[in-house]
This record gives sequence, C-alpha cells and structure tokens, in this order.
Amino acid sequence: MNRRELLKALGAAGALSLLGQPAIAATRNKRAHIVIVGGGIGGATAAKYLRFAAPAVKITLIEPVKRFVTCLRSNDVAVGHMTLDDITFTYDALRSKYKVNVLHDRVIGFDPDKKAIQLDAGGNMGYDKLIVSPGIDFIFGDVEGYTREAAETTMPHAWKAGPQTLLLKRQLEAMPQGGTFLMVAPPNPFRCPPGPYERASLVAEWCQKHNPRAKVVILDHKDAFTKDVPFKKAWERLYGFNTPDSMIEWIPAARGGKPKRVDAANRTVIAEAGTFKADVVNYIAPQRAAPLAFRMGLTNRDGWCPVNRRTFESEIVRDVHVIGDACVGDSMPKSGYSANSQAKVAVQAIADLLDGKTPGEPSMINVCYSLAGQDYGVSIADIFKVVDNRIVKLPASGVSPVTDSPAQPLLEAVYQRNWHRTFANDCFA
Ligand code: FAD
Repeated sequence: MNRRELLKALGAAGALSLLGQPAIAATRNKRAHIVIVGGGIGGATAAKYLRFAAPAVKITLIEPVKRFVTCLRSNDVAVGHMTLDDITFTYDALRSKYKVNVLHDRVIGFDPDKKAIQLDAGGNMGYDKLIVSPGIDFIFGDVEGYTREAAETTMPHAWKAGPQTLLLKRQLEAMPQGGTFLMVAPPNPFRCPPGPYERASLVAEWCQKHNPRAKVVILDHKDAFTKDVPFKKAWERLYGFNTPDSMIEWIPAARGGKPKRVDAANRTVIAEAGTFKADVVNYIAPQRAAPLAFRMGLTNRDGWCPVNRRTFESEIVRDVHVIGDACVGDSMPKSGYSANSQAKVAVQAIADLLDGKTPGEPSMINVCYSLAGQDYGVSIADIFKVVDNRIVKLPASGVSPVTDSPAQPLLEAVYQRNWHRTFANDCFA
C-alpha cells in the first residue's frame, strides 16, 4: 500500500496523526540537549550508547579529568602485574566517533527548576535530560582515628585507582620480611564487592614470591562475601587457608572483625577481636554516593540515589537520571559492568521518552571476574529484571563452580583478561 492508498483507507485525519508522530518525535530528538555528568564507566557508556539510541540529539559529557583511570584491574597494578597506563583511557573516540561534546570541567551547582547545571569554570548549561554518574565517596569519622588524611598517607584505601594505588604498591614493596598486610573490608553496600578479596589474594601471591613469611589479615565488617565459596577454595589451594601456616587470615564480623578505633600513626587497628598492628594497612572505608549527588539533592537517608528502576530517572528530581555506583541498585552490585548495563537502559529510556513512547521493560546484566591468583579466576554472572520497582536477580544466575579440573580456574583467568579488554572498548572506544 502506498502513502495515497493508506490515506484513503484510514481517512485523512487518522492518517495524518499516524504519519505525523514519527516526524514530531524526530524534531523533538534533534532539539534535545542531553548532558552527562561524570565520564567514568557509567557516563562514558551513556555518552556512546546515547548516540545509537537517539542519533540526532546534542550530547555533552562533563568530566574533570582528561585521562580516566579505571578501577578495573587496579588490583593488578597494586601488585605490579600492570601499570596505571594500562588501565587509563581517553575521550578521543567519544569525541571523534560518537560526536560527543566532551568538556573537561566540574559541576558545582544545579537548578532543577531552570534545568541548568553550574560549571566550575563559570557559567551555566541547560539540559533537556541530565544523566549523572558521579561514582562514590568515602565515609570518614565513622571509626575514631580513620581520617581522609590517614587514607592519603599511612592507610590508603586505593579504592579509586590512581595515586593511592601506587602508594599501596610502594608500601607493599617496602614491607619488612615476615611483615603483616592488614586489610579492613568495608560494610555493604560498596563499590566492587569481590574487590577486597581479589586484592587480598593477589597480595598473598605477591608475598609468596617476595616475602614468603608475610601474612595477609582481613578484618571484615561482614560474615559472608560474594563468591566466597570459590575464593576460599582458591585460598586453600594456593595459600594454605584453614591450615596453621595459612598466608591469609579472614576475620568476619562474627569473630570480631569490625574495627572500633584506628591509630593511623602506628598503623594499628583496634577491632572487637583485638589490636592489630601491621606494616601495611589497606583500610577500605565505608562508602556512599559521590559529593555531587548530595549537592544536587539526589540522595536518600542512606546516602545513595533512589531511582525509578526501569528508567533510572531520579525519584527526587525529574528529568535527571542517576546510574552507576551512586544509584540504589538493589541486588545489582556496584560494579563497572552494572554501571555499563544501567547506562544502556537509561539512554534507551531517555530516547523513548523524547519520542513520546513509554520506555520498555529492561533486562540488565552483571558479570564479575576476579583473580584469586594470576592464573586462577573466579566469576559471578547475574541477569536482573525489575519487579515492583525493585531490581531482582533471575534464578539462572551463577557463581563459578568448584571442580577438580585445573583448567576451570585457569580458563576463568583468561576470560577475565579478555573481558577487561572488550569491556573497556565497549565503554571508551
Ligand atoms: P566512576 O567510574 O567512578 O565515574 C565517576 C566519574 O564522575 C569520575 O570520572 C569523576 O571524575 C566524575 N565526577 C564526580 N564528580 C563530578 C563532578 N562534580 N562534575 C563532573 N564529574 C564528576 N567493576 C567491574 O565491573 N569489574 C571489575 O573487574 C572491577 N574491578 C574493580 C576493582 C577495584 C579495586 C575497584 C575499586 C573497583 C572495581 N570495579 C569493577 C568497580 C568499578 O570501578 C565501578 O563500579 C565503576 O567505576 C562505577 O562507575 P561509575 O560511572 O558509577 O563511577
């Protein structure tokens, strides 16, 4: 049926409204200005995929740094398997391939009524839709003696890759023979749930080669952690876990793992289980959404940003979508993979809303590979859907099985390296 026949068949009025809709939507799309704040994993993915979801819109990405250091594989940097350069990415492809206007600046203010953000360099910028992916901040002062200054000098958290990652590496290398590496693992929810246990594993492996009498002690706020079954099996196989000579000791909350006080100058943590004086203290502080989320009034009482789980639009401020670690993700972990998945859902929802359509039903994914040793990987894979405005895991999800096959963990370590390469490209290239 050609256009004239269609008009005849439907009657002029009906046909005009039917044919008119896409044209109106395209006009709306062309005029829209979508601003993305934060060019980390979530923000970079959103900028790229928005170009596919809404080809005609104007996209501006605001990110202070010109070269973004990802946290992914930063534990490998801390033990010298990789360098910071290996995990650093630029915004060249977003600019040249996806025509994103990348502005290296910081957002310092926000007027939701005027739909404008304020830039540090001066001036305001208007938006039609705003995507915010600002990451996390650390909570200091919860435990007496643990301060921001302590984190930057004596007790690095190294939970944002960069100078603290290198500080932790130098401290590890300077640890006396037979010394103690003490880690404090944070309470839930926090960025990268398997990350502390991967780091403890890689430090133990490093010590086997360079400091064989050293010990790695983990004081934990929790009694269980993600992938704990395959991790503990790996620790048994690789580091003598559960034997008197174990290189790794894990002290859960139930056995007094929670820290009560810190003496940063003496690298000492006082926990319910006793006083732990160490040579290196990697204190991974409790976390909340980044300061920008608070400044913009996007946070709830728990310090995270509540969102409509189908669109990631803020439940507090209209036309602002919050993705990544800063948002309330329910059973979705705070990971780069989650941030990437949420970015894709949010941009499709924005494209649909701009076109006057109801956003569809999202399906989201998280896959986390971790290394329990350089050639020993463990993973978790989950698929999520939204039920009653909560993100829930589908039963098909799974953790690496513990098998007797030496190929199983070896292959997972290979997958981890390949995943990292392709994932970084998905976000930045
Ligand atoms: P980020 O990537 O932190 O990006 C936030 C961005 O916002 C930053 O670039 C920041 O400069 C910018 N920003 C903040 N404030 C402002 C402002 N006022 N104005 C403008 N911009 C601003 N995840 C995985 O999936 N797989 C892994 O293997 C993995 N390994 C990890 C290992 C470690 C040791 C750690 C610590 C984390 C790991 N993660 C991993 C987690 C992953 O790094 C985070 O979940 C991910 O970076 C979250 O993305 P995001 O966009 O929310 O925040």
